[in-house]
Amino acid sequence: MKRAFLIGYPVGHSLSPTLQNASFATLATAARYELLETPPGELVLAVQRIAEGDAIGANVTVPHKQAIVQYLDGIDESASKVGAVNTIVKRRGRLIGANTDVEGLLRALEDAQVKLAGMQVVVLGAGGAARAAVFAIAGGGAAEITIINRTVERALSLQRSLGLYFPAVRSAVNRLDAIGKANLVVNATSVGMVPDINKTPMPLGHSVQRDAVAFDLVYRPRETHFLRDAKKAGALTIDGLGMLVHQGRASFRMWTGKEAPSARSLYAAVLDSG
Ligand code: NAP
Repeated sequence: MKRAFLIGYPVGHSLSPTLQNASFATLATAARYELLETPPGELVLAVQRIAEGDAIGANVTVPHKQAIVQYLDGIDESASKVGAVNTIVKRRGRLIGANTDVEGLLRALEDAQVKLAGMQVVVLGAGGAARAAVFAIAGGGAAEITIINRTVERALSLQRSLGLYFPAVRSAVNRLDAIGKANLVVNATSVGMVPDINKTPMPLGHSVQRDAVAFDLVYRPRETHFLRDAKKAGALTIDGLGMLVHQGRASFRMWTGKEAPSARSLYAAVLDSG
């Protein structure tokens, strides 16, 4: 039996096992997807586990997407550009980091028929998911991206990376007035995720504008405090489940060389699991 893992801390809330095991079962692949709860001090042990013979790869989540890079044999172009790894794949015995969050995020926006070209965008957060969001959105043709993050140094570092790869995209850091003008506001922080479902990442007194799009990468709960408030303000809302499915399909393709079942069927499998 082959195995793929989810490395993160905490990981108990994750829907990735439901998603990936549905793909393995549908395609009759003799493999299982398992949680590998990894506190920050134990990252090296998790990487050693992935190096063992039965492992075909892993996903990487909070808070390891950036820290894991130092333990891998290499990273591919997708991860090196974003500076974060959410997928580890084995190539000739070497552990290579990749990033499928960019593809997942773009496909979720596509499903919701959001056209990024010329948009003014606010990204809340500057961690691994925010890095993927900023690169996906810049690559999609947004005109301006404002990064808002609790730790300003992290936001500035992301802004520098953005400037390097997408010099034509205007950018700013921690300019709260950008929220009220944004066509798209993305929550790429973990604020609002279970168990802290009564928290919102939105700075006090600020709101997504009417007719804008609010996209929450958090998928547990599906309707977060952030999305509820945005809906009340008249915004179109997108939850994190679509992105989860699309990034998972891309990871599955990298591990197995096979196309996963349709996004629609996996979405249904995840919803059925509650
Ligand atoms: P991460 O690298 O650990 O980054 C966490 C981010 O959240 C940082 O910007 C951090 O700010 C901010 N944050 C955490 N607690 C905060 C608080 N109390 N107040 C203000 N800011 C806070 O995590 P990540 O990998 O980027 O993941 C972020 C979220 O996206 C998670 O909920 C994850 O489940 C979700 N996600 C979903 C998908 C999907 O497919 N739907 C894919 C990827 C990620 P500081 O820099 O100041 O610490």
